[in-house]
Amino acid sequence: MTLVRSQSEGITLLVDTGSPWDRQFLIQKLQEHELQPQDVTHVVCTHGHVDHVGNFNLFTMATHVVSHDMVKDGDKYTLHELRHDNPFQISKSISVIATAGQTSRDVSVVVRGSDKGVVVIAGDSFECEAHLHDDKLCKSKSDFHRLHATRRDKVLAIADWIVPGHGKMFKVNQRR
Ligand SMILES: [Zn+2]
Repeated sequence: MTLVRSQSEGITLLVDTGSPWDRQFLIQKLQEHELQPQDVTHVVCTHGHVDHVGNFNLFTMATHVVSHDMVKDGDKYTLHELRHDNPFQISKSISVIATAGQTSRDVSVVVRGSDKGVVVIAGDSFECEAHLHDDKLCKSKSDFHRLHATRRDKVLAIADWIVPGHGKMFKVNQRR
């Protein structure tokens, strides 16, 4: 669960909503930022696993992006044809890009112009920093692992920092 705020653009974005058992924890964390669920303008779920989509219905006022689907104003479903070269732009500084991860339709959120430079909230495209050295992805011949490895390389090429799905934010070594 990652909160992104761009006050100049009027955006309060939550990336991933935790598991159903995280409900009180999530409400409490929002309160620490003086926010109620209805203050959240956008929710992005990086993929459909239960630990990432568990508290969706707290945010009925928000625009939702779930994997490659987008829902606005209650029941207006839109399919967005996300490709790496065709991101979904939430605002000038925030976009959603296609990144394979635990599923082939995982997405990541790219935040530009923050005080840390370009931050990519990557869901389980990068589960944790140690996942950077996952040889399986590089050596496997499966199409899925190849897609995942290619998209990870693209994230590594643009990110100064990565917020992984299950671990601490880490800095990307630019010499990579
Ligand atoms: Zn996960």
